[in-house]
Amino acid sequence: MMSISIKETDLKFNTNLSKRNITRKIVLHHADASNCDAATIHKWHIARGWAVIGYHFVVRKNGTIERGRPIDVIGAHCTGNNADSVGICFEGNFETEKMTDKQIKSGQELMSYLYKTYGLNKSYVKRHKDLMATSCPGKNFPFNEIIKGVTATVLSSTTNQSYTVKSGETLSKIGNSLNVKWEDIASLNGIKPPYTIKVGQELKIPNTAKKDIPPIALPTLKLGSYGIEVGKLQEDLNYLGFKGADGKKLTVDRDMGNNTVYALRSMQIKYNLVADSIYGQKSYEKMKSLLV
Ligand SMILES: [Zn+2]
Repeated sequence: MMSISIKETDLKFNTNLSKRNITRKIVLHHADASNCDAATIHKWHIARGWAVIGYHFVVRKNGTIERGRPIDVIGAHCTGNNADSVGICFEGNFETEKMTDKQIKSGQELMSYLYKTYGLNKSYVKRHKDLMATSCPGKNFPFNEIIKGVTATVLSSTTNQSYTVKSGETLSKIGNSLNVKWEDIASLNGIKPPYTIKVGQELKIPNTAKKDIPPIALPTLKLGSYGIEVGKLQEDLNYLGFKGADGKKLTVDRDMGNNTVYALRSMQIKYNLVADSIYGQKSYEKMKSLLV
């Protein structure tokens, strides 16, 4: 599990905040103010009559990531979208300012951390203005840079990898094992029909095709599995309206019991997948296509 450095701010609030049951979006904002920290924003928001700072994190210009409200509660930062999102505020006014490299880097780290924590990827990140009539987070906000996260940045900055063909391998077999389209390998290496390759041949492997790899390695989930991935699957099945064997919404308890298996199997049947009650690559891809 990757770790990032989050500065605890211990902001005081004297009300119970509601837990968030699902996390389907990350919403990015700017502070619309050149110099401010989480404590200052906390005061502004209390003055507006809110219980506590509306955002979950504040990313400072110096790169410090400060805690806002607890990560697992519902935020107050984007009307109509608070119940299923994490809200992040970047110090500065990016209608007029340019973001510093330090702040961009911390934003990328925070994205990767949230992608891993909630099993999301960059398609789940929105600017405030993508959801509401506002200019936030400003026209200079480096959205595409930040949502790359850390992994993608590393991937795109490396050169093409190479691969040595072993006995019995075909382009499609190599493509499958590396999660790269075999057609991309063929075109990068100038291999034409009938696409013959030889044992010992050095192939260049494209990096670009790797950008679609999910940010978390996908474990196969089945009856008895436990963990954050099961919790994400339960959230997703709930979101898509699949019920447990008891006819109810699934409890997001990260425990793959009979109800979760039942809901998963219902999804597999509905979409003509092999109804094996196992959450593997095919089921994952189907769910992903339904959720984006
Ligand atoms: Zn905003």
